[in-house]
Amino acid sequence: MVESNNTQHQELAKELISMCLPLSGNSIRIAISGPPGVGKSTIIESLGSFVITQGKKPAILAIDPSSDITHGSILGDKTRMESLSKNEAAFIRPSPTSGTLGGVAKSTIESIILCEANGYDTIIIETVGVGQSETFAQKLADIFILLVAPGGGDELQGIKRGIVELADIIVVNKAEEERKTLSDATIKAYENAIHFASAKESGWAVQVISCSALHNRGIDNLWNLILDHDKQLRNKDQLSVKRKEQHVFWAKNSMQQKFNSLLVSDKKIKTLYNDIISQIEQGHLSPDKAAQTLISKLNIRIDND
Ligand code: GDP
Repeated sequence: MVESNNTQHQELAKELISMCLPLSGNSIRIAISGPPGVGKSTIIESLGSFVITQGKKPAILAIDPSSDITHGSILGDKTRMESLSKNEAAFIRPSPTSGTLGGVAKSTIESIILCEANGYDTIIIETVGVGQSETFAQKLADIFILLVAPGGGDELQGIKRGIVELADIIVVNKAEEERKTLSDATIKAYENAIHFASAKESGWAVQVISCSALHNRGIDNLWNLILDHDKQLRNKDQLSVKRKEQHVFWAKNSMQQKFNSLLVSDKKIKTLYNDIISQIEQGHLSPDKAAQTLISKLNIRIDND
């Protein structure tokens, strides 16, 4: 319902979210990112299964901007997280089937609230390593985990430098015995890179570790680090600050989404909007005047100072 474009559904969803909000906020929210093929679904499968053995209930959500174009088919067609999807303790929501990235981010936040109210205490948000989705995920989550493969610098792996700086934990995956030299070198390279980066505001020292998601090696170590990070957030009272920041991000995102949707849902605005577009197509209006024309036709007074 929170993903629906139907107005009636949206009204019901709003009510539902308000009811669930007081019951939410106490989980560990984990974002996992990395380039395609690095092993995100494999590690989520092994981490998810591991936390279940620790008595936890994981919920897996995805931020997938490609869903806007493919309608989620790329990720949907793949058999992913096979054993976790059969486990009753886990909830897996494939990425929403349509909408802009902002819209997907909004429904992901609302899904987090619903999952937490429903007793899921470990929320794993998976992002596909392109564009803005990592920034969104980092804003929604308490901890940001970047998955990389052994070998190559981050440019070679298609990871933007800015993304590396978001990471609280960098995990070199596929670090099996036969790739030990390469994965050790990769750990060193990332340790050097973060050594020169400025320290995290929270005081958390970024960790670089290796694992083999496929063979379930190093997953317990990863989970212990996630718990350490969570403990620090709670002990230093940083979690409540994070929750407030996440609420502000949610509110900003909702307002932007509302404005965007008004352009196509409100009759008067839609007519003005389409009229402006056709004037531009016919060369009667210059594109830089579009926004101002819409605002003045709507009779909204904008104070620019
Ligand atoms: P995603 O696109 O990041 O979700 O990557 P997947 O989880 O789908 O994994 C891509 C490929 O890498 C699959 O063939 C996995 O079996 C393989 N893979 C994932 N983790 C490991 C690992 O730890 N070791 C090895 N050798 N292969 C892995």
